[in-house]
Amino acid sequence: MNTLASSNLVKSLENYALETANSQPIYALISVHGDPTAEIGKEGAGGQNVYVRELGLALAKRGCQVDMFTRREHPNQEEIVELAPGCRTIRLNAGPAEFISRNNLFEYLPEFVEAWLNFQQRTGCNYALIHTNYWLSAWVGLEIKSRLGLPQVHTYHSIGAVKYGNVENPPPIAAIRHCVERAILEQADYVISTSPQEAEDLRQLISQHGRIKVIPCGINTEHFGSVSKEVARQQLGIAPDSQIVLYVGRFDPRKGVETLVKACANLPSAFQLYLVGGSREDGADFQEQLRIQALVNELGLEAVTVFTGRISQALLPAYYAAGDICVVPSYYEPFGLVAIEAMAAGTPVIASNVGGLQHTVVHGETGLLVPPRDSTALATIC
Ligand code: UDP
Repeated sequence: MNTLASSNLVKSLENYALETANSQPIYALISVHGDPTAEIGKEGAGGQNVYVRELGLALAKRGCQVDMFTRREHPNQEEIVELAPGCRTIRLNAGPAEFISRNNLFEYLPEFVEAWLNFQQRTGCNYALIHTNYWLSAWVGLEIKSRLGLPQVHTYHSIGAVKYGNVENPPPIAAIRHCVERAILEQADYVISTSPQEAEDLRQLISQHGRIKVIPCGINTEHFGSVSKEVARQQLGIAPDSQIVLYVGRFDPRKGVETLVKACANLPSAFQLYLVGGSREDGADFQEQLRIQALVNELGLEAVTVFTGRISQALLPAYYAAGDICVVPSYYEPFGLVAIEAMAAGTPVIASNVGGLQHTVVHGETGLLVPPRDSTALATIC
């Protein structure tokens, strides 16, 4: 995380922990459903996994000790993984050791809290601060805070009231989520909002109370800017004169891949559409990918569309650099790491005019914005 924005987050947490701790602080980052060491592209893995891992690594690089807690999703997973000196991922047992979608995880949270407290007592780690990620971890953090009185900082990653705002039949868990999202805003020492839009949504839809700091996400700009277009295309076997439209991300209906595919069906000149991401395990991401594949076939785009599957962070810079444009067609996006990763690679970005994207993509300056769900407008601008 080399950008100014993310070093602000690192400094902010550091200062806060130093204010409240007597000696060298140990930070507990909690991400119940987003294992920071998971392969991105596993079912449900995405920006949160990257955010937590990079934050942990950045704090450790500054000499801090960081434990990143997550839920064990497989019996063979190690309990403790040392990612870097001072930075560990710790997998706690809470519910069956298998993938459980985030909508079904709430019932296992009390077990997660007990496992966390056991770990803390067993190891004698004196945590100075807990930083929680997503509403499930917020609940865990509030429980720990109420028992141990630790300061808590929270990042939402997504707000239920925005996500389900226009959804006719939200899942039953949406009501509980809303209560937890209000409690965390009102009771955390402060919450981090990754964009001014998210801060506004929190005030309008969640609560007038509580402290919010706007700290945008950062990325490793050197990593994403490390490959030239020529080298990238050679590496990926893409002809120098091809026109490449790129999408990178999870397959989730709110990502708007459908709008992008429909827009591509209206493009006048030759192009190739690279859809980077997806999951091989059966689950919501995989089902959405199958739906998009069916749409691609229906629109006669199969010959020009490449589904790459999940690409590791190590190989992603080549994909970004190979693209002529990177489209982020989301219907809702709290921040949108993909947009700034593409920018770091020097690839022009076209993004929906929503959420955090409205702040990172300055229309006509750092990219172009289009209305969400509007494939005609997107086709015109592409
Ligand atoms: N990503 C990845 N491999 C893929 C697709 C995506 O590593 O095949 C990463 C991408 O680099 C980015 C993250 O997944 O860091 C997606 O984050 P974003 O904020 O755009 O979306 P979210 O998943 O949080 O909704």
